[in-house]
This record gives sequence, C-alpha cells and structure tokens, in this order.
Amino acid sequence: MCSRKSIESSSGVFDFHQDMDACLAAFDRNCDGQLDYPEFKELTKALFRDSSGNSYEVEETISQNTFDIFDKNSDGQIDREEFSFCWHKWIKTIVKPMSALLIIDVQNDFICGTLDIRNCSAKQNGEDVIGPINDLLETVDFDAVFYSYDWHPEDHVSFIDNIHLRKVHESSPIKAEEAKVFDTVIFDGERPMSQRLWPRHCVQNTWGSELYKDLKVVKDAQKIYKGTNPEIDSYSAFWDNSKLTDTKMESQLKRRNITDVYVCGIAYDVCVGATALDAIQSGFRTILVDDCCRGVDVSDIERTKDNVVENYGVVVSSCQVADMVKGLDRRPELGYKLALNLKKSSTS
Ligand SMILES: [Zn+2]
Repeated sequence: MCSRKSIESSSGVFDFHQDMDACLAAFDRNCDGQLDYPEFKELTKALFRDSSGNSYEVEETISQNTFDIFDKNSDGQIDREEFSFCWHKWIKTIVKPMSALLIIDVQNDFICGTLDIRNCSAKQNGEDVIGPINDLLETVDFDAVFYSYDWHPEDHVSFIDNIHLRKVHESSPIKAEEAKVFDTVIFDGERPMSQRLWPRHCVQNTWGSELYKDLKVVKDAQKIYKGTNPEIDSYSAFWDNSKLTDTKMESQLKRRNITDVYVCGIAYDVCVGATALDAIQSGFRTILVDDCCRGVDVSDIERTKDNVVENYGVVVSSCQVADMVKGLDRRPELGYKLALNLKKSSTS
C-alpha cells in the first residue's frame, strides 16, 4: 500500500531533517519504492533552495548527471539501496554541512607594510577585509577557523632583493640584472622554476608577518604557516607552488570532517585564489567570500572568480554565509560538486 506523505509540509518545503524513508516516500510519487528521474528532479528542486524557500534553477545536464551518479546500476531508477548512499553521502551533507573559514594572510605587510597592496595595480585596500571578516567570526557558527601566515625566511626565493642568491635560467625572459618588482623570472635548478618577484615581505617573527591588529582571532583557531622553505614560494595554504610539500591543512580539515570551506583574505588573485582552487581539488565544497577579499590586479581577480565558478565552487557575499553554513541556503553547484566527488571516490 502506498504510504506517500505530501512533499509539502506546513511551511511548503520538505523537511530534509526527517529520516531517509520519509524522504524516499515523499518523492516517490508512483509509490514503487524507488525514484525515477522526474521524481529525483522534484527532490533536487526541494533540496536546492535559498533561505526564503525559492528553488534554484538547476541545469538539465547537471540534474541528469547527478541522477546517473546515484543510479549506480543504470536501470533508470534509484532503488532503496542506491537511495541510501545518496541520502547518507549527499543529501545529509547538503542539509547539514561542516564548515570551515580559511582566513588567508591578513598580515601587516599586505595592509600597511612592505607589500601594501594599495601600491598594486588594482589599488585595493587590504584593511577593507577586516570589518566583514570580523562580522563573519562574530555572527557565523563555523565548525573550524584557520588563519594562514605567509611566513618566509630571510633568504626566500620570492624576494627581489635576493635575486643575486640564485642563478637565473638562460630561458628566463627577464635577466637578473633587469628584473623589477612583480616581474616573473625563471630560476635555474633541477627543474627550472618560474617565480614572480615581490618586495621582501612577511619575514618570520617580524612585525610585517603579524596578523593585522584589528583582525579578530578566535580561540581554538588553527594557524597554518606557508612559504617557509627558502627555495620555493607557496601561494596556497594547502601546498607550495610546486606541490612538493603540504601544510597539513587538508588533513586537519578532514580530521574535523569539514565538507565546506569558505575562503577569504589577501591577496584575492594570488594566495586566496590558489587556496580556493586547491580546496576544490582536495574535494571540499568551496566558497569564495567576495567582500572579504582584496587583491593585486583587477583582471586577475576576475579570472580567479571565473576559475572557482567553472570548477563548481561559488562566489558569495558575506551576508549570505550564515544561511549557507546553517544549511538553509543550499546551492546546486556545491551539490553537484559533491556528487562528482562521490563518483570519483567510488570509481577510484
Ligand atoms: Zn610571500
């Protein structure tokens, strides 16, 4: 006998905090104990909603691909066993994500020190990130907060005044004697390495490498130090630029069962962008908090956002974060990204 309950609860939205069988029954319109594609599409409509309850538009190919991922035996139906996987690994994460805020390099040198980004082409002011980041820390209940530090030794490869310490490769378009700040040279070595040259900045244990004084530092936060190897730069807070050594951030996030990472800080188009892309690659649902970032170059900032969006991350404003962390605002791109990750991990 059919035990289907109405999809519409009293508030007009299915409550995904009910159990798995209630959910399956609610969307199984023909009461055959499984979901066909149209039924699954109804489920995704109810799942991907903003905090006011309005459904997000989901592209047909994305809906169909997602259905195919959960219809593991490709018989056109998500049966109860397949739905169990979908429920536990996908829907539960979307409804109740575990969220971390990654605050990237909000340090003196980038705001008012030797690499003050006001002097870069975008003419942005790093201090502008402080207010919105502090608001996030005060109003959003993140499951973990990380602060990264650009943390260089004196002889770091990225400092223009250290250029004489290493040999520039013959293929470098810019020679050592003509190199200027922001130029990119190629250093000689086992593998020739491209390196953008920056003013000396964020030297370990100096004022320039301290977090900016007005940034709120929450207790139990994790600190991540990057760029500590003199021979290689590290834009991402996950890996150095050649992906030789990781900072242990990925394992720390995974140990806390984090599913979603919100990335903000300085510089948008350099360390924030590199961190966001590595987060996506490491399988986290990744959100750039646009108004909590300031960068170096306007077109590079736009490219950073495009890159994140193309990889099923999202770019949001800080006022949207609280509802996303609570699982009230549920984005289809992030849901699709999770489904793709599940497919990848079940085939590998
Ligand atoms: Zn640096």
